Amino acid sequence: MALEKYKAKRDFTKSPEPAGTKIAKSPSGRTARFFCVQKHLASHLHYDFRIEHNGVLLSWAVPKGPSLDPSVKRLAMHVEDHPVEYGAFEGIIPEGEYGGGTVMLWDRGTGEPVGAAREDYRQGRLKFDLHGEKLRGRWMLVRTGRERQWLLFKERDDEARPAAIGDVLEKLPLSVSTGRDLDEIATDRNNVWKAKSSGKHRRARPRPVKNASRKPSAAIHPRLESRTGYDATREQLNGVRLTSPDKVLYPEQGITKLELANYYQEVA
Ligand code: MN
Repeated sequence: MALEKYKAKRDFTKSPEPAGTKIAKSPSGRTARFFCVQKHLASHLHYDFRIEHNGVLLSWAVPKGPSLDPSVKRLAMHVEDHPVEYGAFEGIIPEGEYGGGTVMLWDRGTGEPVGAAREDYRQGRLKFDLHGEKLRGRWMLVRTGRERQWLLFKERDDEARPAAIGDVLEKLPLSVSTGRDLDEIATDRNNVWKAKSSGKHRRARPRPVKNASRKPSAAIHPRLESRTGYDATREQLNGVRLTSPDKVLYPEQGITKLELANYYQEVA
């Protein structure tokens, strides 16, 4: 994928996201590539894992975020490529724009491919040594049978941690760029696009964070928000019939049919 899909979905006169006109260079050496994880509160909280490849950021939306426990494999929906500069973005995407919500730069660093990345990507098996501030050591991204559906997981090494001693998402929830949480980012007017023309003065307002008063732990679990849009009486999700929404399709990850359907709709 090139950036056509990324650009087609966005109006850069309304969104502060970078348009991808400049080609950024890798911040480190020959084989090291930039990677980042953006915590994104859109219609659902999720984590966007991005790694540089052929001048763009290959991107996956990870509903439950990365885990340092090698036995925990997380669903990762492959989404459109993003420009490399997007990896520095933290702020507010105006409501009504694609991906509207709050974006936090949760982790960043470099990743070295283990093996031939181009061929491995084609085969659907990417392996990287990550040197982030939160994610380190060897990681795998493996495509499952279904289109766009991959799994992200940690390999066994010194950087692995069993889930029993804690969750990196909960232990280290803040921005690596600014130290802020999502609420602080969401209420910072400096990060909101403002119209410059004096004529039709459209001023974007900071988007009130959905369920801003909820406990922080609730924000970690997209599951709690996953019923958005589901009509239980008619068994429909946004007009599409969906029965047994709580049926667990991926027991290991605890992903239900509704959560998966929500994700297909969101990334479509
Ligand atoms: Mn996202």
